[in-house]
Amino acid sequence: MNRVVIVTGASRGIGAAIAQWFIANGDHVIGISRSGDAPEGCVKSYAVDVKNSADLDAAMKSVVEEFGAVEVAVINAGITNDGLAVRMKDEQWRDVLSVNLDGAFYTARSALSSMLRQRRGSLIFIGSISPFLGIPGQANYAAAKAGVAGLARSLAKEVASRHITVNVVTPGFIETDMTADLAQSRDAVEATIPLGRVGSANDVAGLVGFLASDEARYVTGAIIPVDGGLAMGL
Ligand code: NAP
Repeated sequence: MNRVVIVTGASRGIGAAIAQWFIANGDHVIGISRSGDAPEGCVKSYAVDVKNSADLDAAMKSVVEEFGAVEVAVINAGITNDGLAVRMKDEQWRDVLSVNLDGAFYTARSALSSMLRQRRGSLIFIGSISPFLGIPGQANYAAAKAGVAGLARSLAKEVASRHITVNVVTPGFIETDMTADLAQSRDAVEATIPLGRVGSANDVAGLVGFLASDEARYVTGAIIPVDGGLAMGL
């Protein structure tokens, strides 16, 4: 479709699958990650830490100069650093909040400045079911992802008059590096998922692709799970 699409955390996992989905759709995909790695077919990639708003703004400016206005931004970069809350170090709390929430805000703000001028666009945040389920050891991560949902809904109302949609996809257990530790308890995890299996990164990518499409033009401020039914009803 020739759109300019930004994907943060595009180097691997869910972000790489999302980038590949848009590449297959004919879009111009720009990947952002710490390492700067990106799937084959991306027109460009940047090594940027999303905690650093100045670096993000500089990357976004260079994208607009080289490829034109950003039409889709998928805000996906994220980390976990689990631990029980009473033993959680300040740094462990701050790190997860600053990548998953500050980084999401900085990326959205930067992409929106390009979209607002065009009066069109689509922002898609990758949240999590963690704040809805409550997962022991993930107080920092759940707080950050709950923040992402609040951020997205506020933005959705702020930019709706400019025909920009803002939505959140909340994955359940998806097989990536982030969940590699679950490999030993896979059977136990799968027993809790109504569809009976852990998800793949491609399961998430298809929903993100739809939300960025014209078919989803009347969907905004939505928080949509892709979790095999794990957090159904929450
Ligand atoms: P992953 O395989 O660990 O990949 C994380 C990606 O984020 C990598 O591309 C990494 O870049 C990038 N990243 C991390 N910190 C960054 C930073 N400070 N600046 C720039 N890029 C950074 O994780 P994943 O499972 O694909 O997760 C992707 C998103 O889905 C995250 O937001 C995660 O919270 C969310 N999610 C995942 C699951 C799951 O079950 N996997 C469930 C719910 C939600 P480098 O390669 O350069 O380090």
